[in-house]
Amino acid sequence: MADSIHIKLPDGSTKEVPKGTTALDVAKSISPRLADAALVAKTNGDLIDLTRPLDRDAELRILTEKDPEALEVYRHSSAHLLAAAVLELFPETKLGHGPATDSGFFYDFYRPTPFTPEDLEKIERKMQELAQQNIPYAREFLPRDEGLQKFKGEGDFMKCHYIEQFTKPDEKISIYKTGNFLDFCRGPHIPSTGKIKAFKLLNIAGAYWLGDEKNPQLQRIYGTSFFSKKDLDSYLNQIEEAKKRDHRVLGKQLDLFSIQELAGPGLIFWHPKGGIIRKEMEDWMRDQYLKRGYSLVYTPHVARRQLWQTSGHEGYYAQNMFDVMELDDAEYRMKPMNCPFHILIYKDSLKSYRDLPVRLGELGTVYRYERSGVMHGLLRVRGFTQDDAHIFCTPEQVEQEIASCVEFANDVLKDFGFDQFQTELSTWNPVDRKNFVGSEEQWNLAT
Ligand SMILES: [Zn+2]
Ligand SMILES: [Zn+2]
Repeated sequence: MADSIHIKLPDGSTKEVPKGTTALDVAKSISPRLADAALVAKTNGDLIDLTRPLDRDAELRILTEKDPEALEVYRHSSAHLLAAAVLELFPETKLGHGPATDSGFFYDFYRPTPFTPEDLEKIERKMQELAQQNIPYAREFLPRDEGLQKFKGEGDFMKCHYIEQFTKPDEKISIYKTGNFLDFCRGPHIPSTGKIKAFKLLNIAGAYWLGDEKNPQLQRIYGTSFFSKKDLDSYLNQIEEAKKRDHRVLGKQLDLFSIQELAGPGLIFWHPKGGIIRKEMEDWMRDQYLKRGYSLVYTPHVARRQLWQTSGHEGYYAQNMFDVMELDDAEYRMKPMNCPFHILIYKDSLKSYRDLPVRLGELGTVYRYERSGVMHGLLRVRGFTQDDAHIFCTPEQVEQEIASCVEFANDVLKDFGFDQFQTELSTWNPVDRKNFVGSEEQWNLAT
C-alpha cells in the first residue's frame, strides 16, 4: 500500500500500519498496559513524542520507566511543569531555559523580586495541582515571525534570543504548550503532567543571563524528579547524608581549619587539630620522596617579575597569577607554580652526566588568582600547597623516570585509599606549535 509504512519492533517483528500512525497507537495495539506505561518513543535513534505521527518506515522502541533515557525526558518535562507553576503564581516572570541535568532539572527565571523559600513551597504545591490536572504537553509549530512576535509581546527577551539563535528565518519553530505556559522547545516530552509522580524543588541559585556579569541576574530554581516516591526519598536522603559529610561542615565541627573574612577568601588557616593531621601527611610524603631517590628543596613564595617573563608564565598564565607588587628594586609576583624555582636550583651548579637524574621535590605553597565568587572550601582556593617535583635526566633515562613517577603517584593515591581515579595527560598540539616548547622530535619521542 502506498500510504502504509513498516514499523520494526525491538523483538524483531514488523508491523504494517497506515502513515500517520503514532507510537502511542502502536503501543495500544501491543497492549493497553504498555500504552499506559509508555513515556516517550525512539525511532531510528531519535527520541520523539508518543503522539508524533510516523511518516516513514522506522525502527521503533517504546520507552517506559525502565529506560534511563526516559528519565531524562521525564525531568525535562518536570522543568516545564515548574515553569508552568511559576507563571501561574508569578505571571510577570520571564523565562530562560529549563533542561534536565544529571540529577534532576532546573529552570532559569528573570524576575526583579527574589523567590523566597516560602515561594518555593508555593510553587511546589502548584506543580502538584497541575500534575493532578493531567495537562498534555502539546506540540505546535508556529511560523518563526509569529513566535518571535508572541514572545516579544510578553517581554520574553530570553526566549527571543534562543529563537533567533537556534532557528533560521522562514523556519517553523517548535512550541510546547502546558496549560497557559508556552515554551520554545524542541522536546520531546512525556504525554502529560499526570505522569510526573515524585518531584521536589531543592534550591535557588543566581546565574547571569548568558553567563555574563553585565547581563541581568537570573534565578535558577533546581529540582529533581524520579519515577517513584521511593527513589526520590532515597535520593533526598543521600544528599542529606552528603551535606553532613561536607568537608566545610566537618572542618568546622572538628575544628580543623577556617577561612577568615579579615584575611580574605580562598586562604586557609589550619587550626591545631588540622595542623597535626597536616604534619603527619607532610612527614609521610617527605619520607616517600627521600625513599624514592628525590632531594627535598624549599623555595620562596615570590620572585621578580623577570623570572616569570623568562619562564613564560607571564605570557601564558598571567590571568591566574596575583598582580604585580612593586618593591624598591624591582617588580615581584607571587608564585603560581614551583617549576622555575627548581630549574634555578638545578642550574646553580655545573652538572655532569653522572649526576643525572636529579630529582627535586617540594611541598610548595603556590598562589593562584581565582575570582572572588568562585572559592569553595578547600577545593577552590587562592593559596595551596602542592606536592611537586621536577626531574632532570638524559633522554635515555626518560622512560624509566616516567614509569617510576607513575608508580609513585599510584602508590600515594592507594595509600590514601583512592582506588578509583581519572588521569589526564597533557601533550602538545602539532597544529598550534607556537604555544608549546620543545622540538617536534622531542614530542614524537614523548608521545
Ligand atoms: Zn523544554
Ligand atoms: Zn612544574
